[in-house]
Amino acid sequence: MSGIAYPEPEPELSEAEKKSLQDQIALKLRERNAVLIAHYYTAPEVQELADKTGGFIGDSLEMARWGKNAPAETLLVAGVRFMGETAKILSPEKTVLMPDLGAECSLDLGCPAPEFQKLREEEPDRVAVVYANTSAAVKALSDYVATSSCAIDLIHYLDLQGKKILWAPDRHLGAYVAQETGADMLRWQAHCVVHDSFKEDALRDLKAEHPDAAVMVHPEAPAAVTAMADFAGSTSQILNKVREMDRKEFIIATETGIFYKISQACPDKVLIPAPTGGHGATCQSCAHCPWMRMSALPKLLAALESSQGHNVEVPEDIREKALLPVQRMLDFNQALKKHGSVEEMVRAGVRI
Ligand code: SF4
Repeated sequence: MSGIAYPEPEPELSEAEKKSLQDQIALKLRERNAVLIAHYYTAPEVQELADKTGGFIGDSLEMARWGKNAPAETLLVAGVRFMGETAKILSPEKTVLMPDLGAECSLDLGCPAPEFQKLREEEPDRVAVVYANTSAAVKALSDYVATSSCAIDLIHYLDLQGKKILWAPDRHLGAYVAQETGADMLRWQAHCVVHDSFKEDALRDLKAEHPDAAVMVHPEAPAAVTAMADFAGSTSQILNKVREMDRKEFIIATETGIFYKISQACPDKVLIPAPTGGHGATCQSCAHCPWMRMSALPKLLAALESSQGHNVEVPEDIREKALLPVQRMLDFNQALKKHGSVEEMVRAGVRI
């Protein structure tokens, strides 16, 4: 994706520095009645701190849900900006802090609100479903929000009601959902810079070296990579599947931050990062999100010491409009859990 400015990598910390910062942050969390909510793609020491302090680690849907129900006054969100915004949309009464408000996402950057609004106006008959990886302003222009955990079920639910969809912004996930559901989807064409870089040929070579390994792919990866998967799903779904599957080795095509949680859940399994580099590349797997790693421990501490420059704000008019599609996503997931399948939901006349 051209024109994107990537952040400088955060300075490396020694183990002693990490430990000292973790202790200081833990103290500040208690003082401020705050909890740490970390995404699976943040650095291992950040996830470890969330574990130790009674915080939460999850995907973007789980983070939003957990933050809403947490009894704390302050949510410290380690991840990228749309995650902090979603927390604020759902919990306006809470202070929401982020280590670095400049933590972007290439999907969010690839779908500016004015351009999305223009397409909406050109396609008034379509129901707008946007991925969680969008700004609050884009969510405010939408009918439903979806994460990769629920996108297939939600689109299937809308398709069964004869709806035509306007999907934004991830092109690979959009194509995958369209293929799985057969729904009529007009699709935005942005991509995730991490998942888009997984390589089909290099994955085939790696698979030949590890013939017994199961290939686990996040469907933000290109279609040719997802087609090679033994299992394709969201980060949480991959974590659960590795736990369940009776295999020793797994090649994993998603951000390598997830290795922290999978290793913790399945210490006896062998996790191999899927290749992002082709033949001759010096980096065979650099599947690190440059923005997720901005949630570094020194910045977490700085956010708790002085909220200035770390406070997530969403204008109230946008927040109110964005809340509706976000709440529909949460309601949809709850109803799906209750009824067991989309077909049962539709049979029961559930309308969300
Ligand atoms: S990994 Fe990709 S989708 Fe996730 S925040 Fe980074 S750029 Fe966005």
